[in-house]
Amino acid sequence: MKENNINLLFVDDEEEFLNSMSRRLSKRGFNVITVNRGEKAVTLAKSTPFDIAMIDMKMPGIGGEETLKAIKEENKYLEAVILSGNRFVGDGFAPKDSAAFLYLQKPCELDKILEALNKAYQKTLLNRKA
Ligand SMILES: [Mg+2]
Repeated sequence: MKENNINLLFVDDEEEFLNSMSRRLSKRGFNVITVNRGEKAVTLAKSTPFDIAMIDMKMPGIGGEETLKAIKEENKYLEAVILSGNRFVGDGFAPKDSAAFLYLQKPCELDKILEALNKAYQKTLLNRKA
């Protein structure tokens, strides 16, 4: 599928990773907006409609799960991928108490990220139809 026109909110406090991965995702057709803190993401999501989000779990200030829960109050159809640094979590569906659709373990390759983002986007589309 084409990733064109998918509005992605990407939140990570590791700015080198944030910037390099967002450039690569932009080249694949995503409209990527980056922020380095959960608080900024929550503020931004109040004024900007996003289709999907990719959020780092561990950040200074509010963490990824809390950020996502706040974003979903404004964007109820939005699905998200949480990036976890915890090697015991692994890739796959997020735990039941999570607001995320999928978890990905860092470090992760572009291909895995693209697959996860596309799955999340498909789920967003389903949410809107339901
Ligand atoms: Mg982090």
